[in-house]
Amino acid sequence: MKKKACRKCKLFTEDDVCPVCKGQTFTTNWQGRIFFLNPKKSMIAHEMDVQNEGEYAIKVR
Ligand SMILES: [Zn+2]
Repeated sequence: MKKKACRKCKLFTEDDVCPVCKGQTFTTNWQGRIFFLNPKKSMIAHEMDVQNEGEYAIKVR
């Protein structure tokens, strides 16, 4: 089964509530994945507006 990603912040989670943005809408319709260890030092994380460490989808629908 495909992982689900938060629609709002794109974090992958198994929870019913996103631990980062507290969003409750998820999608399995995503493309690409990226792991940020140190998002505050990453340009890509900055462009994606990622503040927290974790695995994120690059694109969600
Ligand atoms: Zn979220």
